[in-house]
Amino acid sequence: MTPAHALPARIVILGGGAAGWMSAAGLATALPGTAVEVVESEAIGTIGVGEATFPSIRQFNQLLGIDEAEFLAATGGTYKLGIQFRDWRRPGTHYFHTFGDFGPLTGPMALWGQFQRLGAQCDGGLGEFCLPTVMAQHGRFQTPSAGDGLGARYTYAYHFDATRYGAFLCQLAQQRGARRTEGQVVAVARHADGRVRALQLADGREVAGDLFIDCSGFASVLMGQTLGQGFVDYSPWLPLDRAWAVPAARAGDALAPYTRVTALEAGWSWRIPLQERTGFGHVFSSRHISEERAREQLLAQLDAPPLDGARLLRFQAGHRERFWHHNVIAIGLAGGFLEPLESTAIFLVHNAIGRVIQLLTQSPAPQPELAAEFNAQQTRQYARIRDFILLHYCLSERRDSAFWQHMTQQALPDTLAYKLHAWRETGVLHNYDDEGFDETSWLAIHTGMGHWPQRTSPWLKEVPVAFAQAQLAQRHAAIAQLAAHMPRHEDFLNTRLAGTRRARPPRGDTP
Ligand SMILES: Cc1cc2nc3c(=O)[nH]c(=O)nc-3n(C[C@H](O)[C@H](O)[C@H](O)COP(=O)(O)OP(=O)(O)OC[C@H]3O[C@@H](n4cnc5c(N)ncnc54)[C@H](O)[C@@H]3O)c2cc1C
Repeated sequence: MTPAHALPARIVILGGGAAGWMSAAGLATALPGTAVEVVESEAIGTIGVGEATFPSIRQFNQLLGIDEAEFLAATGGTYKLGIQFRDWRRPGTHYFHTFGDFGPLTGPMALWGQFQRLGAQCDGGLGEFCLPTVMAQHGRFQTPSAGDGLGARYTYAYHFDATRYGAFLCQLAQQRGARRTEGQVVAVARHADGRVRALQLADGREVAGDLFIDCSGFASVLMGQTLGQGFVDYSPWLPLDRAWAVPAARAGDALAPYTRVTALEAGWSWRIPLQERTGFGHVFSSRHISEERAREQLLAQLDAPPLDGARLLRFQAGHRERFWHHNVIAIGLAGGFLEPLESTAIFLVHNAIGRVIQLLTQSPAPQPELAAEFNAQQTRQYARIRDFILLHYCLSERRDSAFWQHMTQQALPDTLAYKLHAWRETGVLHNYDDEGFDETSWLAIHTGMGHWPQRTSPWLKEVPVAFAQAQLAQRHAAIAQLAAHMPRHEDFLNTRLAGTRRARPPRGDTP
């Protein structure tokens, strides 16, 4: 479609981390007539973490025409069916946040509603009625089938090495015409009206552009330092501000098709299985635990020897006041960050790129209106994701440390308080605009944390008990049977990788 207004002739991206190269690949593909240039500094480097993703990355890769097997081979990637939460409700408990389906969510046959009514007579928890949850339990993986049967009603994401993903997209973006410039930006030249004119590099070169994408990471060189956009601080709600990260050898066990996050004394740890290694990290609140004790707690989580020393990262939850100001758009860490509990950072990057492309190509409005719309959407989305992350904490029964007492007793944002009320009082999963997570995700967390409605639709009781029981039993059996016949995650992955040039060498210690 030809846009009704002029597209920028030159887009300059500052930063060559995952956000910079995702932006370059997306823009070079969608706007072939526009010159795209990425300025990055090897001396500064990238953040070098980020391993778990969200299912919509598949659409982003598809838009770029990326072959899944090649992508998995290039990034050391594995498949992800969701996240297992351990010790969150209280120590010793676990539940699964699925990328699947729990059957009807409303009406007389709402599956969760019939389960709540008759669950005592069912084997296992609500997760037994969700195919990818059962697949994950048994270490199985297969891509969804065609059609609309049970085997088609789930999606999946990936675990991968974000640095290798950046390098993979760097190659792809350059093949599509993007240009790479190595150099450190030391000053920024501006027009009289405040717009950015050019980036000035340490060696004296200038890189001029019409539109600038700030992907400079936490430094936020353009949006923060140059344009002075303040920071909307979420740390009063989300005080976690540090992370230790360490790669470990692959454990001898089967390759898990899910991320595992375990609640700890003052935060939580992640375990992310990649092809050649397992990523571990501990995200914590430095107000509630010392860095050294947090490091020890991380090392105690490892199930195989570390491959390197643990690295400490510092961050603050929140986002820039504006994501688009003058002719600068901040994407990735330069725009904001929320703790990586639900793997939302890379999701926010490709979502933002999609919005920018849509606004640039489809809207006839001049730039200030585009910027205002983009800022409103991004701000809402960060707030929605903040609420979803807070949900994991506020429902916990843990009170065993100062951190958990704080996280369970603090005042909540009104938007989240209303959602909790609607679910508890009426069994309604309320949705706002620009949600990052759909009703199924909210349901998985509410029920996984033991938070069930006190009142539900009277229609549920109109369904004869025998009929509802038969429906539940039928779904339970069908899911168990489907999962039992699926390949092990590792076998499926190896078959997928077998045709690629960079197929993984066989592992000596595979059982
Ligand atoms: C502890 C932790 C865990 C995370 N886990 C996940 C996860 O599981 N899933 C997920 O989706 N995300 C995760 N993230 C976020 C993820 O790492 C980032 O969103 C992603 O890597 C993109 O980073 P970026 O490109 O915005 O920034 P960076 O990787 O920091 O890149 C910044 C770029 O800007 C360049 N640059 C900066 N200043 C200058 C300058 N003056 N001149 C020239 N170049 C400059 C740098 O050289 C670099 O190329 C995590 C983040 C943290 C902190």
